Amino acid sequence: MKIDFANLQKDYQLHKNDIDNAIQNVLNKSNYIMGDDVSLLEKELEEFSGAKYAITCSSGTDALILAMMSIDIQPGDEIITTPFTFIATAETIAFLKAKPVFVDIDEKTYNIDANKIEEKITSKTKAIIPVSLFGQIADMDKINKIAQKYNLIVIEDAAQSFGAEYKGKKSCNLSNLATTSFFPAKPLGCFGDGGAVFTNDEVLAQKIRSLRLHGQSKRYYHKFIGIGGRLDTIQAAILRVKLRYFDENIKLRNQVAEKYNKKFEGSITHPSKHKFATPPERGLEPIILPFVEEFNVSTYAQYSIRVKNRAGLQVKLKENGIPSAVHYPIPLHLQEAFEHLEYKKGDFPVAESISNEIISLPMNPYLNDKEIEFICENVLK
Ligand SMILES: *Cc1c(COP(=O)(O)O)cnc(C)c1O
Repeated sequence: MKIDFANLQKDYQLHKNDIDNAIQNVLNKSNYIMGDDVSLLEKELEEFSGAKYAITCSSGTDALILAMMSIDIQPGDEIITTPFTFIATAETIAFLKAKPVFVDIDEKTYNIDANKIEEKITSKTKAIIPVSLFGQIADMDKINKIAQKYNLIVIEDAAQSFGAEYKGKKSCNLSNLATTSFFPAKPLGCFGDGGAVFTNDEVLAQKIRSLRLHGQSKRYYHKFIGIGGRLDTIQAAILRVKLRYFDENIKLRNQVAEKYNKKFEGSITHPSKHKFATPPERGLEPIILPFVEEFNVSTYAQYSIRVKNRAGLQVKLKENGIPSAVHYPIPLHLQEAFEHLEYKKGDFPVAESISNEIISLPMNPYLNDKEIEFICENVLK
């Protein structure tokens, strides 16, 4: 059996006609930069997320840069975020010469631990960037409340969670600003790089629109220092097709996750309040399953479990043709690029221990029962 991790090929084959037509349309018009598909997509993203303004851009990384530029982040400003995320979240803070200030994560959701944020706030703190990791939104009510108390801006890094829900509200409509990514392997991916910034604030929206076009107010009149950060018309056209069946794909991803959970839970020998399965064949070594809060709907950007002997499991899966990935092996405070921040091992024990145990199994809307069974058997044996 050959199992595909994200199965982008199948997704394209299933919607080939519509996608090919959308691309051909752009070619026929040759409106490659800021064509009408870009503004139409932005309207559709606004409708989908509920956020008043969606501004597309060149990537999830540039979306973070644009969001921070729009609130005038300055050298020396401090921005609170999580050490358990993709590098871009904190890299963009440092890129703007601001300082990432890390806060450890929650043991169950792997998102920033909102209870530990307040103690890290100083007079230099300007913003909080929670990441909605693996498709589950961080605890935004608690985070927004802290931000209000200290007059801080909240930017949701929703690169993995576009389409997710928190207490009935959609990701990207839960904070002052939000950013997402349309990198091909994200739940809503295009065929290259792409991203978007979301806000309900008209002034910020206008500024972001200008910043992504070299800070121009009109052609060749530049009000701000900006960037070349547009989304290609071809990518916008592709995303408009994919947005039509995106809800269905989220549903299918959730069904796959449910099937994984059932299979693993079926072999529980030591049930516990936390969701975890202990396969008898592996003695008492638990497999910790993804935990999604009752008030959350995850997009399952990843289906990630925790095991003690990860290296062994990786080898076994590979031998059996099952792809896996580690998101993420080194928490950001221990990355060489952040040496200057002078963090050390032991500073964020939860993030560190989860980094050692986490492993992502294949996750896409098209995994069938046989494949899921095969993967679970191999994890359990
Ligand atoms: C993917 C990702 C990004 C960056 O998005 P790109 O489109 O690849 O630039 C930022 N933050 C998180 C959490 C991500 O997963």
